Amino acid sequence: MTTPSATKRVLVKSYGCQMNVYDAERMTDILDGQGYQATDNIDNADLIILNTCHIREKAADKVYSELGRLRELKAERKNAGQDFKIVVAGCVAQAEGKQILRREPAVDLVIGPQSYQNLPELLARKSRSRHVDTEFPVDDKFKSLPSPSNERAKARGVSAFVTIQEGCDKFCTFCVVPYTRGSEYSRPVADVLAEVKRLTDVGIREVTLLGQNVNAYHGLDESGHSASLGELLKRVSEISGIARIRYTTSHPLEMDENLAFAHRDIPEVMPYLHLPVQSGSDKILGLMNRRHTMHDYLDSIAMMRRHRNDIVFSSDFIVGFPGETDEDFQATLTLIEEVGFASAYSFKYSVRPGTPAAEMDDQIPEDVKDRRLQILQALIAKQQRRHQDSMVGKTLDILVERKGRYPGQMAGKSPHLLAVAFDAPSDYIGRVVQVRITDSVTNSLVGTLV
Ligand code: SF4
Repeated sequence: MTTPSATKRVLVKSYGCQMNVYDAERMTDILDGQGYQATDNIDNADLIILNTCHIREKAADKVYSELGRLRELKAERKNAGQDFKIVVAGCVAQAEGKQILRREPAVDLVIGPQSYQNLPELLARKSRSRHVDTEFPVDDKFKSLPSPSNERAKARGVSAFVTIQEGCDKFCTFCVVPYTRGSEYSRPVADVLAEVKRLTDVGIREVTLLGQNVNAYHGLDESGHSASLGELLKRVSEISGIARIRYTTSHPLEMDENLAFAHRDIPEVMPYLHLPVQSGSDKILGLMNRRHTMHDYLDSIAMMRRHRNDIVFSSDFIVGFPGETDEDFQATLTLIEEVGFASAYSFKYSVRPGTPAAEMDDQIPEDVKDRRLQILQALIAKQQRRHQDSMVGKTLDILVERKGRYPGQMAGKSPHLLAVAFDAPSDYIGRVVQVRITDSVTNSLVGTLV
């Protein structure tokens, strides 16, 4: 690998999930070691990386229209005698591969999520030939990606993401992840602990462990034993400086009581679980190939509540999946009423080319999807607000994250991930303090330091 002599600037534009945010940070870190400084400003960037997401409809179309704008910028730079490189990374890169190079001549490099460790070498190539790297050597990726510098880690705040598991073997019929991120892989326990330790050494107080199926984690520990997520949570909680641990995204099929024990026994594990159910209809769950029923899901919720009665839940919902009748949709609303979610992400079903659901009969008209989505979102918003309002009068532990909007104000998060604003000294950032909640306003709570 060659190191560029003059400092260049890279803009990583990231879309989609938290795993993409984590990957964007890792790409910035690896390029930092190659003389590329991170920038937020396209006008002074020498390199742009579009870290794409394939989960939303027309994701690829949006990438191509963004690439059209970048092509013009690249032409302007060329006329001015400047170099400008365009890289497409992430799940659209993985799914579309060579097609991107064919459709958009301005793109220099297409790189899939499992190949980011190759970025410096590919960018440093003298040859002008354009390249696609969408292999799946996931083990290499984590071993080869560097840690952020201390300054960079500090600048990212008191809370950090750590990917512990990647890929998926579940093959839900609507989802592209098994094709874009490959099969399930868990990082070894020691590697995860080392990364968390490095983060706490520079003042990180909260980690969110990430994985497409994070509760399917089964990384090997030092003695060759395959550790569960519950066991990993215990090990992470023993690292000095860690105040809070979260994890996402879990799959209902992988719920086991050890995870509930972790919530019961480890104070650092926050009482919040994102457990997507997608639908409350067993027929639709079957068509989605979720491999669990609505009752299995409710049993998991009940088990978690038995061991940690203050735990709250969030979920993902897809409305208008092929074949969804009014009765199926009503079953989803009934499930939502029964669980009482603290928050949820909800989407209209949209066709993902290459997935089994794309070929299913009985696709639902857009206007029906729109109506169902509105009804579902109104119900979720009501539950969310009820949950938030129920905090007024309580004293909560708040992790202070940053300055608030007004002078003298600080902002942080409650154990249930609610945003809280209160007056406190600015050197409280990184501390967990007690705040008495006095008011509930749109999307946040207001309180007074105890
Ligand atoms: S569990 Fe299903 S929805 Fe989640 S990543 Fe795997 S295939 Fe996609």
